[in-house]
Amino acid sequence: ASAQIRHGEPSVFEIGGRKVGGTHFALIAGPCTVESREQTLGTAHTVAAAGATLFRGGAYKPRTSPYAFHGLGQEGLRLLAEAKAETGMPIVTELMDARDLDAVLEVADVIQIGARNMQNYTLLTELGRAGRPVLLKRGLSATLEELLNASEYILKEGNEQVLLCERGIRTFETAYRFTLDLTAVPVLKQLTHLPVIVDPSHAAGRRDLVQPLSLAAAAVGADGIIVEVHPNPDEAICDGPQQLVADEFAAYAEKVAQAAAVA
Ligand code: PEP
Ligand code: MN
Repeated sequence: ASAQIRHGEPSVFEIGGRKVGGTHFALIAGPCTVESREQTLGTAHTVAAAGATLFRGGAYKPRTSPYAFHGLGQEGLRLLAEAKAETGMPIVTELMDARDLDAVLEVADVIQIGARNMQNYTLLTELGRAGRPVLLKRGLSATLEELLNASEYILKEGNEQVLLCERGIRTFETAYRFTLDLTAVPVLKQLTHLPVIVDPSHAAGRRDLVQPLSLAAAAVGADGIIVEVHPNPDEAICDGPQQLVADEFAAYAEKVAQAAAVA
């Protein structure tokens, strides 16, 4: 059985009591990395109050340099559990190594597979068996065909709860970090019934572009947005230049909600 995703009505998933997909627009927000209790819980309360649907935060971080900070690991997961307990928001966090799966399953309502692991087929198969919703990010240079085939590794094991995520691809352009491929949104939605989420933060790499790209994503029919937010981005351990300022998040969320409502 192949091509399990390329037919059917738009999928709606129930994630931690919240619906994602179909007519339900998801706003997934939170810091790039879980850095401290204050930073994590503060951001969680801010985005929850502004109506975010799910909370994101990395405990295990894929970093380009092996010498960079790689996340708080188990301690980060513990802080995410605290954020969930305090705000009620379901948690999205990245898994990089199948050896951490059990620990991540303790807190994650959605397991994120980062762009760099999109074609880690053994990891995808494990997630298919784990049965938890997966946010599968498009590889830096992956075609949509490759993204869809990667999702099939999860679906094939019986886990149908896959959210596809466009997060920008490598092109010749250097003025911003990656090129957000918004054409992928309607095309993926024609080809599959899976929800399609857009990540404007990692695509742009620049805070000033995050709101316009978010509004555009809503306009082309994205099922949600995953966006980075930090109380003090200048002091963020990673991705500071692209993280939205927490104090400005409510205004941003309102604009996005309006754009999603008219789309
Ligand atoms: C992230 O969302 O934390 C991340 C590292 O993104 P990507 O895998 O798309 O680079
Ligand atoms: Mn990041």
